[in-house]
Amino acid sequence: MTAAAEACHRTLVVFDFDQSLLEDDTDRWSMKLGGDEAAALRASRGRDDCWTDLMGEIFAVIHSKGVGREQFEAHMQGMVIHTDMLAACKLMEGRTDVDCFILSDSNSVFIDVLLERYVLKNLFKRVVTNPAHFDENGCLRIQHCHSHSCATCVLNLCKAEFMSEFIATTPYARKVYIGDGGGDLHAALQLSPGDTLLARRGYPLMKKLATPAGQDFKANLVPWDSGTDVLSWFQKHLSS
Ligand SMILES: [Mg+2]
Ligand SMILES: [Zn+2]
Repeated sequence: MTAAAEACHRTLVVFDFDQSLLEDDTDRWSMKLGGDEAAALRASRGRDDCWTDLMGEIFAVIHSKGVGREQFEAHMQGMVIHTDMLAACKLMEGRTDVDCFILSDSNSVFIDVLLERYVLKNLFKRVVTNPAHFDENGCLRIQHCHSHSCATCVLNLCKAEFMSEFIATTPYARKVYIGDGGGDLHAALQLSPGDTLLARRGYPLMKKLATPAGQDFKANLVPWDSGTDVLSWFQKHLSS
C-alpha cells in the first residue's frame, strides 16, 4: 500500500485532558497545595482574566509555602483516570492505524506526571498544551501554548487551530474527539460529518453545543457520563 493510501485509513483520536481523559481538573487539584492564599487569589480574578497567567501566580504561592518539585509531583500523582477510560486508552495501544493526541489547557508538567503514573506515555503521539517546567529554585513556571487570532477561545489556546493542523498534516479517514469543556467547542466544530464527538454529559461543552455557537457542529454527538461509556463506544467503533 502506498503511503497516501495508508493515510486514508488512519483514525485520529484526540483527548482533552482535564475532566475527560482524567476524572478531575489538574489546576483545581494543584491549587489545594496553595491553601487559603491560592483560593483568595483565584477569587480575586474575574472571568476575563487569563486563567493560565493566574495559574502561574498560584504556582508561585505554592512555591512560597515550601512545596518543592517532589512534593508537587507526588500530589499530582494522586489524580485518577477512570479504570474504563484507561482500558479505552489501552485498546488503542500498538495500533498503527490510529494516532492518539492530547489537546489540553493544563500544562506539560501535570500531563507528563500523570501519563507516566498510568503508563500511557507511549500511546500519545503528540501532547499539545501550555509548556511548563520547574525552574532552578523548584518553582513551577508556565507559558502560553501559543498566540492566535481566534476571538472565541482563551488567550493562550485555540484548540481549533491545532485540530486544523492535525487534519491538514494527515488525511484521516475518521476523527474522534473526547472532551467536556467550553474550550473544546471550537475544536469540535472542525469535525466533519462521519466524525464523532464524545462530549461529557452535564459539562459546558454539551451546553454550548445547544446554543447558537454550536449550530455549525456537523459530526455525530455521543454524550457520555463515565469512562465506562467511552470504553463501550471504543469497543464498538474502534476495535481493529
Ligand atoms: Mg476538560
Ligand atoms: Zn478558537
